[in-house]
Amino acid sequence: MTANAFVAVFGGAPEGVWAAPGRVNLIGEHTDYNDGLVLPFALPNTILAAVARRTDGRLRLHSSAAPGAVVELTVGDLKPGRGDGWADYPSGVVWALREAGHAVGGADIHYDSTVPTGAGLSSSAALEVVTALALGDLHGLALERPVLAELCRRAENLYAGAPTGIMDQTASACCTEGHALHLDIRDGAQRLVPCDLAAAGLRLLVVDTRVEHDHSTGAYGARRAGCEAGAAALGVRTLREVPFDGLAAALDRLPDEHARRLVRHVVTENRRVEQVLALLDAGKIHEIGAVLTAGHASLRDDFQVSCPELDLVVDTANEAGALGARMTGGGFGGSAIVLAEARRADTVAEAVTDAFRSAGHRAPRIFAAAPSAGARRLR
Ligand code: ADP
Ligand code: MG
Repeated sequence: MTANAFVAVFGGAPEGVWAAPGRVNLIGEHTDYNDGLVLPFALPNTILAAVARRTDGRLRLHSSAAPGAVVELTVGDLKPGRGDGWADYPSGVVWALREAGHAVGGADIHYDSTVPTGAGLSSSAALEVVTALALGDLHGLALERPVLAELCRRAENLYAGAPTGIMDQTASACCTEGHALHLDIRDGAQRLVPCDLAAAGLRLLVVDTRVEHDHSTGAYGARRAGCEAGAAALGVRTLREVPFDGLAAALDRLPDEHARRLVRHVVTENRRVEQVLALLDAGKIHEIGAVLTAGHASLRDDFQVSCPELDLVVDTANEAGALGARMTGGGFGGSAIVLAEARRADTVAEAVTDAFRSAGHRAPRIFAAAPSAGARRLR
């Protein structure tokens, strides 16, 4: 289908088709840019790219999410701050590859997607990773996945201008089916952690509130800056250097309540990642629910990045018998995850839909998601 769409848009046939998934983060929110711990897994939802190289240095980009318009660029002209809309993500990848010394020329690329955009499920990273993987394969670059993820992060931060951490790109590039990916940002260490929800009789629901977040503006950057200021006040390089058992002493040394809230969230959130890891390793998946809900409370009350719709999902799901729930992604809208026993999942989903209707919110999009494969070549 994606290959056919490529033919319809560009004429000739693509050289191949690649896929990269969106992600949810099980736990570890707003920790990545603090050198902390995260635990995402890949969604079954992917962005597909059909790609053919060109020899004339032209980069032609088309997405079924932006039908009609083909964005035409010249690779030699790519530079940060051009402002080509959605095309900044893939052209930023081409720019980052070339900046890293790879001789990547022009290409025709058509994208199809089942990753909701702006829903906190990392469509931006999926778009970058599928582009980097395809171009890397076609040019024989043999990029290690963590290196590929870092290139994509540079594209997002430096070219598209969104100051996000490395989690999203790493999840899309490095996850495998049936596993969550434990990533320690400080040293880059990765571990795939078995997370077979179905075998445990569980289901994880993703609830897209359809409140669009926007990472390139304001609040996300402000939290980031607040964390950096907190680290500076404590005389550490990043908040990762504050151990959980040193939290009380650290809070005493901070100048104001705002700083204390930010630091408390980051330090306790790293702790919650460790707790969830220990539970997964011990085969006690059921018990992670309470940790997820505690994480939500911290994001809502201390870090203050939730919103009424996300809080409604979490409260309603828990009242309806879920094991736990939390917002996932940067916040200010986007999606929540709900962990429920499989036999209760439909009831929980209905309760959330009903609560949104009663509150006068747009109907949420709810789907079940098992940990799925990372980026790959399809043909
Ligand atoms: P998220 O990553 O949570 O989905 P972002 O704001 O980081 O949200 O990224 C969303 C942006 O990524 C969109 O506004 C668009 O520019 C781009 N994007 C995502 N998916 C597609 C797609 N299929 N086609 C074109 N652009 C896309
Ligand atoms: Mg994004």
